[in-house]
Amino acid sequence: MTFDTVIVVDWASGKASGPTPKKDAIWIGVASSTSVEPPLYLRSRVEAEAWLIARLIAERAKGHRVLASFDFPFAYPTGFARALSGSDDPFGVWEWLAARIKDDENGENNRFDIAAEINKFFGGNGPFWGNPLKRDFAELQRNKAEYSLHGLPEKRQCEQDEKGLFTCWQLAGAGAVGAQVLMGLPVLHRLRERFGKELAVWPFEAADAPIVLAEIWPSLLGPVVKEAEKSGEIRDAAQVRLLSKALASMPAIELAGMMDLTSPIEGAILGAGHSDELQRASLHLAPPKLSNDCFALPVGVDWTPVDEALGMLRARLKPVVPTITVSVHSAVNKILAKDVIAQRSNPPLPNTAVDGYGFASKSLSGDGPFELPLVKGRAAAGLRFDGHVPKGFAIRILTGAALPDGVDTVILQEDVRSDGLRIAFNGPVKAGSNTRRAGEDVGAGETVLRAGRRMTPADAALLSAVGVSQVSIYAPLRVGVLSTGDELVETGQPAQDGQIYDANRPMLLAQLRDWGFEAVDLGRAPDDRATLGAMLDGGAAQCDAIITSGGASAGDEDHMSALLEETGSLALWRIALKPGRPLALGMWNTVPVFGLPGNPVAALVCTLVFARPALNILSGAGWSEPQCFLLPAAFEKRKRAGRREFLRARVRDGHVEVFKSEGSGRISSLSWAEGLVELPDGAALIEHGTPLRYLPFGLF
Ligand code: AMP
Ligand code: MG
Repeated sequence: MTFDTVIVVDWASGKASGPTPKKDAIWIGVASSTSVEPPLYLRSRVEAEAWLIARLIAERAKGHRVLASFDFPFAYPTGFARALSGSDDPFGVWEWLAARIKDDENGENNRFDIAAEINKFFGGNGPFWGNPLKRDFAELQRNKAEYSLHGLPEKRQCEQDEKGLFTCWQLAGAGAVGAQVLMGLPVLHRLRERFGKELAVWPFEAADAPIVLAEIWPSLLGPVVKEAEKSGEIRDAAQVRLLSKALASMPAIELAGMMDLTSPIEGAILGAGHSDELQRASLHLAPPKLSNDCFALPVGVDWTPVDEALGMLRARLKPVVPTITVSVHSAVNKILAKDVIAQRSNPPLPNTAVDGYGFASKSLSGDGPFELPLVKGRAAAGLRFDGHVPKGFAIRILTGAALPDGVDTVILQEDVRSDGLRIAFNGPVKAGSNTRRAGEDVGAGETVLRAGRRMTPADAALLSAVGVSQVSIYAPLRVGVLSTGDELVETGQPAQDGQIYDANRPMLLAQLRDWGFEAVDLGRAPDDRATLGAMLDGGAAQCDAIITSGGASAGDEDHMSALLEETGSLALWRIALKPGRPLALGMWNTVPVFGLPGNPVAALVCTLVFARPALNILSGAGWSEPQCFLLPAAFEKRKRAGRREFLRARVRDGHVEVFKSEGSGRISSLSWAEGLVELPDGAALIEHGTPLRYLPFGLF
């Protein structure tokens, strides 16, 4: 599902007059996957209709497919069409309105007369309401008084599913959309008549015509538009610009997914439920951040030590994903793009940690026993005690309550006796007992979380407590996974002699998801350069990074490295590492590609050791190193100098044991192991009890 051109129309109900550009006139955004036109301002609907027809004709003359979208409902709630025109077909309503609604260059129109006529047909006082005119209508009320829906639903299902959508029955008042529907549907009707079979209306019809009309709702872009407004752009202009850009640059399969539904009666809002994808796509035309030679190796180096290879990744990679602002709740598991500052102290006021009695510590002298009279009233969480507690008096106080004026110390209720008028207790009691100081946990203005952190559920609690409701995060890094090799078959399919099941793809997809990336399954490519190239094109269009396995060496059938070589960006990293053959690193259409060896053991080790830290940087999380534990060996081994070795390992009885075979064909060893042992680049003699670096899989 691709469109060459996307048009987004912000339809306006009012009549355009006064200075231009005005924020409530018609705004139109136009974008293709590679460019975005400056938002167009049109003063009247008549002008907009003429522009639309001319533009659609021009686009079709170039052979372009066009998505033209409008920000008003294409249909009324179920039942209305049938009552009005005798059929559920929404186009019947379009035609009915087109025959009656009048509009001109000055925006003079008869929509309230028509709404009143419809109400009269239904028996009056509904379903439409809201008359802002000087004239009165017997059938159309100024507000919702004596309102009747005449058995119709208040909203369509798609309007109930999203927060903040207005009912199309409301014709007047801030935010109301009803009057725009009455003025817009006749225009759509005429477009439909004019373009005939060339035009389809989604989701009443399948979206496969050269021109597709669809209903959109710019508020799905939420914070992205707010950001643009902050820099001075008119809200409606920003909405059509960003939404056309989003729909035009969105990966084809994502758009197809959004359009993959039909609703022949009530219609639907394109993109509803996909607000994250839209927001991201609206920001996605950022220039490439990585240069084509970012994986280049120094000339003449043959075997690169692991630390040097890691150092190069660290120095050359940068975040490649846009940032978006989201609620704290939806930021969990995402990466913070900015440091977060506490807006409020925690606790905000000094308070009590227990249920008990509060008083001034100066009320006591010596070791007790003590007796203090109680003041009237009590202090509880959320219920501030406004009075003063004089020295020598105590007050009933409950956990979380702010300390009343005059109170600095609290005694636990279990430690006192009380008759309701006095309390008696033993000493000594330390000044400040059982209280929490204001800001003792976090002070307002302190940096509570740093950019690059992957937000945890506990972080959501912390940020909420310190008054932070929105944070800036990096959009999740989309990582494509592609397997290559003629010998591979999909699990679940019959395998011929000489074929093997694709084991890497399920492993890598799961591992990436586990790390919080958005894993995109790019399938299997044969050992055929043209097909592999086309699959990389597809992958690069929808991913921020690609991991491939197989074909990464320099042999005849190593097509991954050959293709990357053709782009001029290939760097075949011969890393002094076991297991692992060369890694083929390069750029494909500005997207970094990590070509892993096909062997599953080598593929996993290279993913853990190299891909993980590289992807972390690309995602905005910064540089990361795996956590390791020094643990005694439960085995013996003599290691030669030259390569760093990673052995499949696990811990039992406090000792590290390794898999019985070091053979890199042993997929079962990956399953057996719970981590890796890292042996140094140099020679090593390992005996029982020798301390070793053990890296659990879960801590990479
Ligand atoms: P290559 O790197 O393409 O030379 O492949 C090295 C070895 O790994 C060969 O034995 C391949 O059959 C095997 N291999 C490649 N890709 C996969 C895969 N996705 N799953 C399992 N084995 C694979
Ligand atoms: Mg191969």
